[in-house]
Order: sequence, then structure tokens, then C-alpha cells
Amino acid sequence: MQQIADKFGVTRPTIFSNALTDRGGRSYIGGRMPSAISVRTRRRLWIRSGGYCAFPDCNQTLLEPIEGADDDTNVGIECHIVSRKDSPAVARSVSSLTPAERQDFASLIADRHGFSNLVLMCARHSLIIDDPHAGFDVARVVQIKRAHEATMNAKRSDAQRRADDLVLRYAAIIDGWQQRVGLDEWQTRYGRVFGDGHPRMDAEHLNDLSEARRWMFSRVWPGTEPVLEEAFENFRYVAQDLV
Ligand SMILES: [Zn+2]
Repeated sequence: MQQIADKFGVTRPTIFSNALTDRGGRSYIGGRMPSAISVRTRRRLWIRSGGYCAFPDCNQTLLEPIEGADDDTNVGIECHIVSRKDSPAVARSVSSLTPAERQDFASLIADRHGFSNLVLMCARHSLIIDDPHAGFDVARVVQIKRAHEATMNAKRSDAQRRADDLVLRYAAIIDGWQQRVGLDEWQTRYGRVFGDGHPRMDAEHLNDLSEARRWMFSRVWPGTEPVLEEAFENFRYVAQDLV
């Protein structure tokens, strides 16, 4: 289970021990998501980058094995091309872009956490491209991303492509589930259900849970990760008991 869960950045998705962790192992439950990058976008970014830093000729692998540990350490940084924050201290801030750049890269500005605005780098190169004095403008970083992804794409076998497509299908289901159950405000929504011996839940959130349960039931599951599917099935049963 853990192996499958790690692949998606998800821990056992029962309603109580629930749900998403980030790749550093921090739970999202009880607080807001540290990032609005979806699970599917994150998986797609890692797949398309091949797990290597995109900076030209860096070739650093971003999952490093550790002696004696089951899991690799993630040393990759998911960098925003048009920066997430609007600050003169960060390269490619919206306010620092020229009118032509704003026009050319309007879609990146509008969807800051989207796949097209993200590039995977090692820690060193993430700092270099984000240094406003280093000269990495939007066009240059987009070109770096595209060139790296094209190189990696040429190396992917048909079997790998099929496996990657399945990963993305599961990731899309996880995103849909996460949105429907309101995972980023889990504590607020569902904390009172079992908190003080007087179970209660807002009608709106109960309705969301019911809709999430129906939605889960109607998914077409790929069938290649039975343990993950079983965990979601468990979630559905628990949600059914609640609603
Ligand atoms: Zn690098």
C-alpha cells in the first residue's frame, strides 16, 4: 500500500487517517495545502521531466536513494516559470514582465500552478533561474523546459507511456476526490464529527461528502492498482455510513 501511495503522494485514504501528504511527508490535514499544484499536474511534471533536472547539461537525478531506507529522497524543486509571488526579489514576477511578455505568456500568468508554468530542477539550478540578476526570462525558461521534456520524451518506450498514462488517470481521480471532499479544509469540515462526543456536520459539507461518494462510485477505475482502489472503496463505505 505504502509503495502505491508514495507513487501518488497519498497515504492510506480512509476518512480518519486520511489523505494527502506532500513529498516531504507532511500531512495536509489540519492545515491548508502548501501549494495548489494538483496531484495530476505534479505527476505529469515528474513523468515528463524523467525525474531529472531540466537545466541544460545538469542531468542530476531528483530522487536520490538513501542507504538503508526504503524510499528515495526527493531533491527536486517544482519551479514556477512566471513566479508565484509578485516580488522584485524573484525573477519573472508578473510586475517585472514587459507588455509583450504578458501577452505572449498570458496563459502561464493565468494558470500559475498549471503544468505549462512549472519546470522541475535541482536545488542549485532552481536558485540560479530564480535569481533576478541571472537573466533567465520567461522565454528562456520555457525553452529549457520544452527542450528537456522533448529529450526525455524521445527516450520513453511505448510500455512506459502506457504505464505513465495509468498513473495520470489515477492522479486525476485523486484530484477529483480531494476537491469533492474538501481536503484542504478537512479539519474545519469534519473535525467536529468525532471531536467532542457530539457529532455534527454542516448540511452543505454532508452534501459534498454524499456527492463525493456518488462520484467515486461512478469512476471507471484502471484496475492496475487494486490496493489503492480498495482503499478508496473503504473511503466510500465509511462516507456511506456517515451520510
Ligand atoms: Zn540542476
